[in-house]
Amino acid sequence: MTKLEFEIKELIVKDILEEICSRDLIEWAVSKLEDGFTGTNLSILAGLEYSTSIYETTGWFWKTLKEMGINYNKNNEILDDYAEELIRGIGAGRIQPREGVHKLDRLFSKTNYDSRYDLKTDIHDFQTIADALMMMDIGDEHFSVLCPGLEKTNVDKFIVDQALISMATKNITIPSNIYSEVYCNKCEFKGVPIKKIERKWYEKMGFLIGYPKRPKMFISKCPNCGSTDLLAVGTVEGQKRYLKEVYGIDLIQIKFASVEDLKRHEER
Ligand SMILES: [Zn+2]
Repeated sequence: MTKLEFEIKELIVKDILEEICSRDLIEWAVSKLEDGFTGTNLSILAGLEYSTSIYETTGWFWKTLKEMGINYNKNNEILDDYAEELIRGIGAGRIQPREGVHKLDRLFSKTNYDSRYDLKTDIHDFQTIADALMMMDIGDEHFSVLCPGLEKTNVDKFIVDQALISMATKNITIPSNIYSEVYCNKCEFKGVPIKKIERKWYEKMGFLIGYPKRPKMFISKCPNCGSTDLLAVGTVEGQKRYLKEVYGIDLIQIKFASVEDLKRHEER
């Protein structure tokens, strides 16, 4: 997708989500004239007043697209394309990660959480990341409880990795049961961990000294060696390892491919 196509799709998406105003379209037309595009309809659109009704402005916008030889329809396919392009843009470093996450989150919530837009990242989908970022900001927390592995210091990398995972898994169906599995960092075990309730002596004997009862805390252990040093397949790091081992997919290669892809688009 070229820069121009992305801009146009973003405007159409704004229109579908009913977030567009005349100014958005007029400013876009002005910027296109500045970029050297020409056309009667484009010039008319660029010359409209911001106070022009959105119906009239969108009318000129669609005429302008026709004039440019661009045939898009205002339909859900555009939403799909746009969501995918946002993710590719984040992965390739063209879109600022946080900004991309907020745009995706907006798309999900405005489309009533249509599962098509979470693009198979059901564990740490972008909406969860958006929630996690908000909670970290509000609570001034250094790491996220919602997204294991997400920390204040690795936000951008975490989002980019998630985008690359999304791109890598687009055409494969990962069995959902693997997300309950772990890799043991001590031995070679991979599979479902055992969950144990761990209680300190004072939690067990607390009733003797009037210690309040606490909710049960489960901890996961390797059934093979008993280690608690585990990497959950559902985390970003776990998914990276899983993709490499099972599908031979290396995210670094996906990143290079998307950057190369991007260069080609910019050249056009
Ligand atoms: Zn183990």
